[in-house]
Amino acid sequence: MFENLSERLSGVLDRLTKQGALSEEDVKTALREVRVALLEADVSLPVAREFIKKVEKEATGQAVTKSVTPGQQVVKIVHDALIETLRGSEDPGALKIDNPPAPILMVGLQGSGKTTTTAKLAKRLKERDGKKVLMASLDVNRPAAMEQLAILGQQIGVDTLPIVKGEDPVAIAKRAKTQASLGGYDVYMLDTAGRLHIDADLIAQAAAVRDVANPRETLLVVDGLTGQDAVNVATEFDDKIGVSGVVLTRMDGDGRGGAALSMRAVTGKPIRFVGLGEKMDAIETFEPERIAGRILGMGDIVALVEKAQETIEAEQAERMMRRMQKGQFNMNDLRSQLEQMQKMGGMQGLMGMMPGMGKMAKQVQESGFDDKMILRQIALIQSMTKKERANPALLQASRKKRIARGAGQEVSDLNKLLKMHRQMADMMKKMGKMGKGGMLKQAMS
Ligand code: GDP
Repeated sequence: MFENLSERLSGVLDRLTKQGALSEEDVKTALREVRVALLEADVSLPVAREFIKKVEKEATGQAVTKSVTPGQQVVKIVHDALIETLRGSEDPGALKIDNPPAPILMVGLQGSGKTTTTAKLAKRLKERDGKKVLMASLDVNRPAAMEQLAILGQQIGVDTLPIVKGEDPVAIAKRAKTQASLGGYDVYMLDTAGRLHIDADLIAQAAAVRDVANPRETLLVVDGLTGQDAVNVATEFDDKIGVSGVVLTRMDGDGRGGAALSMRAVTGKPIRFVGLGEKMDAIETFEPERIAGRILGMGDIVALVEKAQETIEAEQAERMMRRMQKGQFNMNDLRSQLEQMQKMGGMQGLMGMMPGMGKMAKQVQESGFDDKMILRQIALIQSMTKKERANPALLQASRKKRIARGAGQEVSDLNKLLKMHRQMADMMKKMGKMGKGGMLKQAMS
């Protein structure tokens, strides 16, 4: 139904791989696609706009243009920004249930999945945390809802407060509290009444219950498929009742999870759990990584990005090869080699990865050629002019002094770098000739 974001981006990324570098215009183009994808995933317009603005700022300035894999960079920045926006609390699944009996208030509209979620959480508390849980339905207007909770309780082996006809919600809440204390329960869950729409009665009732129960957690259950409506509901409930977290249900459905992003961005409330089906086990703690992946269609993107990365690296290597064959290896080439090395975790990192290289890594360290050295060498190259970088043979004594000073180093450091470059250039030339078939041709003739 939805065109995948990765499909959208592939055209853009293909273009990027040909260019090899990411311009401001490219960031904008890519983000336009991201924006459409966000809107299709049900993220509200202002939230999508705000999000894109933030990402654009992050993406355009810095590393992106320098990066060897610009496509990966954009996707990663978007992905990370999504996670950052979505992440509400360190441990969303940890409910505050110390000091037994701990009351948990469940609120939400009718049909949101409130009763189902109450039972799912009770089961979770019982099975994962070994807690003794009591559930009580306060939905006095809908006897069927009270029955439903009792049936679910039986099904999962969790006690429910006996139904007493004619009792009002506040009285039921009080009775639940007494029963929980007397019965040695760790937690008691109050499943409040739901209506189809938020109205003053509903809010007043929930507020009255809140005041007598003094809940440790007030969890708002919202239907994840209702998108922007879910966000409005959450805003209102939080304003009027105050909620400690949100449970998004029906995340097993077709929705792309965008409601989660709007929910976090607009209400600032942490999403604690997601409902993933009708079964009593179909609930999970909220994981921002998963929702981010879902919004982006990340699986495909990762593959795509890997492809893009390979292309870029192959193109770079080819370019380098061509230059070598022509006997060209200037300071720019040296710099990109050094940067490549640094990106791969520096000398130590590289050697650490190779078996049996521990001793060598130590020698390298003793020789002073460490990661700091790479940075210092890059700094020296950076203080050269464009002409000098292209042809370091131009460097006179006075310029050498200036360059070394510019990089906060000694002329001897620069001389070492130049020597290294000469040696490498010589080697490259030889290898280049070999590659051209020079040596091979000789050997075969
Ligand atoms: P309440 O009126 O808010 O208490 O809603 P219910 O708990 O009665 O749920 C309404 C319907 O939604 C029921 O048929 C549930 O089985 C179903 N439901 C609840 N949560 C989920 C969920 O996470 N995924 C799916 N697919 N269905 C759900």
